[in-house]
Amino acid sequence: MSQFISIDIQDHEPQVVPNVEPRVMYEQQVERDPQVERDPQVVPNVDTPVAPVPIPIIDSLTERLKGLIRNQPLLFPIKTIQNINVEVSIIKRNKKIYEFTIIPIDFCVNGDWLFEEMYERLQSDANEDDFLRRILLHILIDLKKIKIDKFHGRFVINTPEQLAQNSVQWTEFYQEFKDNENITLTMNECCVCFTLTETTTNCGHTVCLECVSKLRTITEEGHNHKNCPMCRQKITDLN
Ligand SMILES: [Zn+2]
Ligand SMILES: [Zn+2]
Repeated sequence: MSQFISIDIQDHEPQVVPNVEPRVMYEQQVERDPQVERDPQVVPNVDTPVAPVPIPIIDSLTERLKGLIRNQPLLFPIKTIQNINVEVSIIKRNKKIYEFTIIPIDFCVNGDWLFEEMYERLQSDANEDDFLRRILLHILIDLKKIKIDKFHGRFVINTPEQLAQNSVQWTEFYQEFKDNENITLTMNECCVCFTLTETTTNCGHTVCLECVSKLRTITEEGHNHKNCPMCRQKITDLN
């Protein structure tokens, strides 16, 4: 028996489906249009392959999820993601809805979470086990790919190219309106790396989540925090 199961998730976002389809589409396009050069660099954004998730992990987590009562979280044994101290959990909202969240524990963020996904049982999930296995496979693959989106100050599953695009697409707008007296923008340049970001600290300074993650963690009386790189105030909130 094979140790791995194939990845086949019906409700998956296109960008997280393993890297088969985009390449196939590209090759078909090349056959139809001989003008397109067969240069590897023009292959559209293709996700880096993600290692398959071994069955035993899915099996044991499925059993744990089945044992959950309503609104009780299953906490994952994850301490940090990209240097941010986090709590990662699945919460059973009811038999058909589960919620996956990543919450920062050293500071508050607007909306409380850095990543959130809701899973609803579909017609195609023949039984509860199918539903839970589908959720878990999706989440475990996401966890292997999760990255900081500097612009929005959230964790996302996008490719590096999509992440770069997020701030680039507002750069011209920012340049045009940053000094306008009538308008205050939701974005500013990170005071450390100068990438456009919407993340501000409780002391009013603009620092992207990636730069926050690189700040030294200070532990006082059992609690962790980081200090603002501009004014050294304790960062308690990111908005
Ligand atoms: Zn930054
Ligand atoms: Zn500050």
